[in-house]
Amino acid sequence: MQFYNTYSRQLEAFTPLNPPAVKMYTCGPTVYNHAHIGNFRAYIFEDLLQRQLEARGHKVERVMNLTDVDDKTIRGCRQAGMPLVEFTKQFKQAFFEDLNVLRIKPAAHFPAATEPQYISKMITMIAQLEKAEIAYQADDKSVYFRLGKFPDYGRLAHLNLDELRPSGRVHNDEYEKESVGDFALWKAWDEADGDVAWDSPWGRGRPGWHIECSAMATALLGDEIDIHCGGVDNIFPHHEAEIAQSECCTGKKFVRYWMHCAHLMVEGQKMSKSLGNFYTLRDILAKGWTGREIRYALISVNYRLPLNFTFGGLAAARSALQRIDEWVGRIAECGTRKAEVSKPSFDSASEQSNEGFFTALDDDLNISGALGQLFETIRETNRALDNGELAPAAARALIDWWNRVNAVLGFEPDSVETPAEVLALAEQRKTARASKDWAGSDRIRDEIAALGWQVKDTKDGQKLTKLSV
Ligand SMILES: [Zn+2]
Repeated sequence: MQFYNTYSRQLEAFTPLNPPAVKMYTCGPTVYNHAHIGNFRAYIFEDLLQRQLEARGHKVERVMNLTDVDDKTIRGCRQAGMPLVEFTKQFKQAFFEDLNVLRIKPAAHFPAATEPQYISKMITMIAQLEKAEIAYQADDKSVYFRLGKFPDYGRLAHLNLDELRPSGRVHNDEYEKESVGDFALWKAWDEADGDVAWDSPWGRGRPGWHIECSAMATALLGDEIDIHCGGVDNIFPHHEAEIAQSECCTGKKFVRYWMHCAHLMVEGQKMSKSLGNFYTLRDILAKGWTGREIRYALISVNYRLPLNFTFGGLAAARSALQRIDEWVGRIAECGTRKAEVSKPSFDSASEQSNEGFFTALDDDLNISGALGQLFETIRETNRALDNGELAPAAARALIDWWNRVNAVLGFEPDSVETPAEVLALAEQRKTARASKDWAGSDRIRDEIAALGWQVKDTKDGQKLTKLSV
């Protein structure tokens, strides 16, 4: 496998430190509202990465942190008039529901920054940095990281710090490239923090956002991590700061492979509340799209390319999934047949067609190449089925292949129970057909369709499938 490493700006062969183990850290959401579809693009890319690594025999241990204390969560809880813990709890819960809707595999660990063991780890790290004179407490009582002590600062983002004018200290978690300055590790309490504060050797206060990730990552995964992911907007200053803090504490290389996913746009524009094109996952679900369709739309563009999210793209995702479902249904049916065909034309056991999907993903998660392989296989085998040339044994091999492919894609249909009303109509239709009442049978078929179900006649009787519209 090879991945594009943001640090070197090159494709690099992937070799984890202790194979088959892969230690992976992914920056998670700030739980001050519902995550938006741009966030989920990154989480789905990370899910695809984990699943492909697992398909290749790696044992992935993934951490996704929850930022439950920072400028935004504090502002949010104060506006809502709720304690911070109560305020963030509702969004943590909602986030887990959203992950489930999008079929994103749960991480092995979901640490939250305010858990006592992580707060104390943050304090330990800051104290260590202070002892080495890399951190200092300023007049405002906050503790800052002294950038001049870490010459590699800016290497991940490929910033030339000499060209950027240092601007003193930066108290906020997020700042622009132009204002490179010593960043806050520990923020002294101020009035805007309300009752959110912890005791520390520097007085009451709270951690900066960047140290949260360094502490949780090293606490759970150790000093050296194989893969660290996030969106491109995390590169600077957040990931740059994570490297500086972690490496100054451990003296080891923090991360071997940095992987970042590109921006998401909506209908060709930057997603923003003022343009009215800002969507949470829930907004899109409320418009009648399924988690599976949204997953398809978000996964199907290579992660390093900007993704233009459109409703036309969701419609294309819907029909692509229908195509897959129909094909799976056909090969499954063919696989149950007893008689072999006389002139089999499709050799699904051929290693070439089987492995193309996975080898495409080995190449820096080339999902468009992988999906191209899938649809090529669908086209070929549908043709063979049309001509009665797909042998049942070949169909069964295809089902096995599809199960392996789908373990990476996560495209299986939602399991739905057939409503009693639909079952009753299907029973009536069976009676109508038994008495050769074709007009009645068609009328009932339309009634079933009106309820969102499709009925097909197979040699094993009627088959009901949910229409995904
Ligand atoms: Zn982070």
